[in-house]
Amino acid sequence: MVAPAASAPPEDDALGKAYDARLVRRLLAYVRPYAALVGAALACIAVAAGMQLAGPLLTRWVIDQALPTRDPALVVRAALGYAALLLAQFGASYGETMLTSLLGQRVMRDLRHELFVRLQQLPIAWFDRTPVGRLVTRVTSDVEALNELFTSGVVSGLGDLFTLVAIGVAMVLIDWRLALAAFAVIPFVFLASRVFQRRVRSSYRDIRTRLARLNAFVGERLAGMRIVQLFGQQHREAAHFARLNEAHLESQLRSITVYALYFPVIELLTTLALASLLVTAGGEAMGGARSVGTVAAFLQLVRRFFQPLQDLSEKYNILQAAMAAAERIFDLLDTPAAPGVTPTPDREARVAALRRVGVTVEFQGVWFAYETTRGANDEEPSPSRWVLRDISFRVAPGQSVALVGPTGAGKSTVVNLLLRFYEPQRGRILVNGTDIREIPLDVLRAVVGYVQQDIFLFAGDVAANVRLSAPLSDEGLATAAARVGADRVVRRLPGGWQHVLGERGGGVSIGERQLLAFARAIAANPALLVLDEATSAVDSQIEAEIQQALSTLMAGRTSIAIAHRLSTIVGANEILVLHHGEVIERGTHRVLAAAGGMYERLFRLQAGGVGLEDQSSAAATRLPSDVTVG
Ligand code: ATP
Repeated sequence: MVAPAASAPPEDDALGKAYDARLVRRLLAYVRPYAALVGAALACIAVAAGMQLAGPLLTRWVIDQALPTRDPALVVRAALGYAALLLAQFGASYGETMLTSLLGQRVMRDLRHELFVRLQQLPIAWFDRTPVGRLVTRVTSDVEALNELFTSGVVSGLGDLFTLVAIGVAMVLIDWRLALAAFAVIPFVFLASRVFQRRVRSSYRDIRTRLARLNAFVGERLAGMRIVQLFGQQHREAAHFARLNEAHLESQLRSITVYALYFPVIELLTTLALASLLVTAGGEAMGGARSVGTVAAFLQLVRRFFQPLQDLSEKYNILQAAMAAAERIFDLLDTPAAPGVTPTPDREARVAALRRVGVTVEFQGVWFAYETTRGANDEEPSPSRWVLRDISFRVAPGQSVALVGPTGAGKSTVVNLLLRFYEPQRGRILVNGTDIREIPLDVLRAVVGYVQQDIFLFAGDVAANVRLSAPLSDEGLATAAARVGADRVVRRLPGGWQHVLGERGGGVSIGERQLLAFARAIAANPALLVLDEATSAVDSQIEAEIQQALSTLMAGRTSIAIAHRLSTIVGANEILVLHHGEVIERGTHRVLAAAGGMYERLFRLQAGGVGLEDQSSAAATRLPSDVTVG
């Protein structure tokens, strides 16, 4: 029952280089539209750095020049100057925070949008291989890591560097001997930073891995809450969660210890620098070589010099995390889109033309496997992996083909290929004589009305869900619903068309869901109907409504039905019996029922021993759920 913790995908743990020119160039492309923002932020940073320098210089002037004159006016002027400095510093720092945040937020919005657009274009086969949790991480926390890069990373990192250089140069210019005395501890700062970076790097990776495990675990348990409660597994799950939670706490504590040690070490080194400065100054001041003001200014400058040094070490980690996130985001953006996602300009006209002449579908020797070797769909799969083997059939306009066979035989796969969710490795699928690879995807899909086995309704009102296939007016909506009996479903709902469904369409029964899906399919007046019937049992009234709706839906259209209900099978122009991906029997109901093969056996079983001749009563009988025909 207790599933192993889904370990974080290895790539999510990776920490790349702190600076990768290729990635930075690509990131800059996102910043370019906001060049004015960047310029203004840099100006604020320059002002803030200048102010860092101006404070100590003013102190020096006050001590060395203003105070000895004992002129109160001069001291007041100095105080006013200092206040002005503080005000300017306040403004610059406010501007810097606001502008870098604006920049970060805007770039994040653009990236998130681009990611979502790309995700919608990716082939369905790609989603089979990629856990949803990982994609959500891309769109949320990876983008957030990049935000850090813009807000507290690059721009303020540049500011730190700027301040560092400015103060360093000023110190050398004012008094190079004092400067050297203070700089003596710099090698130790570098050493401490290096150790810190290495430790933080490994604890950061640990935190990410463990957090990913924790999230995956919570996500899966929430999705499977019914099973957890049904089997009374709450205690075991809580114990499992406690282990993961503890591991996460440990890694966080390790990281906190590293930070807690690093900051006092830097503080200690700053104090050592100050001590070394005072010793040097004290030794020489006896000789009267240097003013008190200079020493006072240096005391301030040294503090301000070490602050950005300490910040830069932290920024290094932000850079590393951001580069790793950028790598993953660009990887996703570079994943090739499914073929034919670009909209066709004359789509409506082409769809209308197909609707006029009717649709012929032809499978010619189609072979398909979901996976070959690791995801590369163009390689030849090993024989055991074929899900469809040499499938050929033809449906003429207005005719119907039914696919039946045991569960896992490959029936839904036939439909998946027709809708181009996947591409066959061998053979061709033709619509009106044209290979579907040459028909624009939006045209192909607009021709098809597809009712899935597992009907997906989105959170939102019922009307919006039915309107997905076509922008219907209220009357159009009512007509479409009435034709398939979905109007009765809508009337039963408390809010009618405006009734709001829960997430994934919660709040309507499976049978009602099907009728709504029929309304959605018929609303677009599709020339080709593809039905993947649900296997779940529905009550007899809904069952009758569904049967009625099906006949309305199929009348006058080409249809391919994965049949679970006998009435669909009985009326079909051709029935294909699939077994392990192969067509093992084909023909009309009458022919197959008399042939004494698998179809006859399945039919007899699900009809509950009713004689084959008595088709009308058999047709009204549901398949028992353990013998799935179709
Ligand atoms: P059912 O009646 O239960 O719906 P089916 O006949 O429609 O079954 P398919 O869904 O076509 O069967 O599946 C055929 C085979 O392909 C099964 O063995 C199934 O496990 C496998 N399969 C289906 N979808 C995928 C996928 N996305 N990736 C890998 N294998 C898949």
